[in-house]
Amino acid sequence: MDITIPKQILYIIQRLEEAGYEAYAVGGCVRDTLLNKEPHDWDVTTSALPKQTVSIFKNEKVIETGLRHGTVTVIKDHLPIEVTTYRIDGLYIDNRRPSNVSFTPYLTEDLARRDFTINAMAYHPVKGLIDLFNGKEDLANKKIRCVGTAAQRFHEDSLRIMRALRFASILNFSIEPATAAALFAEKEQLQNISAERIREELLALLCGTSCSEVLRQYYPILSVWIPELLPMIGFQQHTPYHAYDVWEHTLKTIVASKATKILRCTMLFHDIGKPSTFTQDEKGIGHFYGHGAVSTKLADQIMRRLKFDTKTREQITTLVKYHDIRCENSPLWIKKQLRKFGSDLFLTLLDVHKADIAGQNPALLHRLDDIVQCQRMTLDILNQPSCFSIKDLNINGSDLIALGIPAGKTIGEILKFLLDAVIHQTCENQREALLKYFIKYRDHFESTI
Ligand code: ATP
Ligand code: MG
Repeated sequence: MDITIPKQILYIIQRLEEAGYEAYAVGGCVRDTLLNKEPHDWDVTTSALPKQTVSIFKNEKVIETGLRHGTVTVIKDHLPIEVTTYRIDGLYIDNRRPSNVSFTPYLTEDLARRDFTINAMAYHPVKGLIDLFNGKEDLANKKIRCVGTAAQRFHEDSLRIMRALRFASILNFSIEPATAAALFAEKEQLQNISAERIREELLALLCGTSCSEVLRQYYPILSVWIPELLPMIGFQQHTPYHAYDVWEHTLKTIVASKATKILRCTMLFHDIGKPSTFTQDEKGIGHFYGHGAVSTKLADQIMRRLKFDTKTREQITTLVKYHDIRCENSPLWIKKQLRKFGSDLFLTLLDVHKADIAGQNPALLHRLDDIVQCQRMTLDILNQPSCFSIKDLNINGSDLIALGIPAGKTIGEILKFLLDAVIHQTCENQREALLKYFIKYRDHFESTI
């Protein structure tokens, strides 16, 4: 069998078996190993009850993660392993995961409650692969297929709808027809899932390799939570800059951007305000005046709905707002932007630009060169001991207080004034020069001093 499992998992399985129980590696780790991918966590399923598991591993570090759901985390040689008792899910209420679960002595029942065939395989170092639902075949054919009747499985727990899309995107799999039909039929039930869970699945989906295929095919499902997407679909732009409609352009920019949550979300939202700002001039050319501001407002509204944390929401709205800023390849302009956005966000904004251009008319790809050059200049500036924030000034508040300026708001204003002078190259970033410069313009501040 082409599976190697870490020695810690072998140890856990062995100890459980010595105590008279069954145990297997199960779920995502089996799937990923069969795909030759490094699993990011290892789960063990066992016939031992949680209390029994805790007692078997009393000499190890054990965290009682979710005793009620049968899960105990055993940490062996720094590897946390979730050991979960074979279980059957109880009643599903409101299309969410069951509030209670019951334990079962049968592996078959535990595998049958799992969502997709590729996630319902167990592996034992001696007995080999236990694959009751042809998960291995679906892996080979790159198919997402529900265990059991798809509509019923999605109805029981609608988070599985988002999980199906997420796995399709990350693994570059297609969703088999009956499962896909059930996704659409059950999509409204997604309203019963918490915003946080929808958000986490959406972010993972957006960072997947076939995210654009999934979005193109399954946007009606995402629109249950984000109806603002719908006007973009098929919206013609009537401009020589664009070879694609707004949605196709959006998908192309997503693919062209690095797979980070910030960038992918920014690209998803950057033109979402276009349909409502569309106008056509007398030549029939389309314009979207002010779409950046409308996109920003909609992005903010969507991210609040999905309970994004404030910092992420603010970063993404800033990137959306300035996504079509005109780049100037001059050190002065770049320094001003570094001051305005900070270095990380400005570099990300340049990435947004690159992705945006990549999704426009292929004839305009030469515009990328400018951005690449701007990126290079920015990195050069960041590598120099140059100055674009107050903390980089070779003078500080104490120097001004020594000149008799009272501590307080004015000090900040003077430092800002000096920073501007340095950025505009009217004064050197050098202590004596800055003090002299300030003394020369001290009158400007007299009324506040
Ligand atoms: P990854 O951890 O790579 O995201 P995973 O398959 O390990 O993928 P987890 O959320 O860690 O996913 O869940 C572990 C296993 O539990 C899954 O492989 C699946 O067998 C089962 N599972 C998880 N969530 C559900 C669900 N909502 N319905 C049914 N089975 C589920
Ligand atoms: Mg997992």
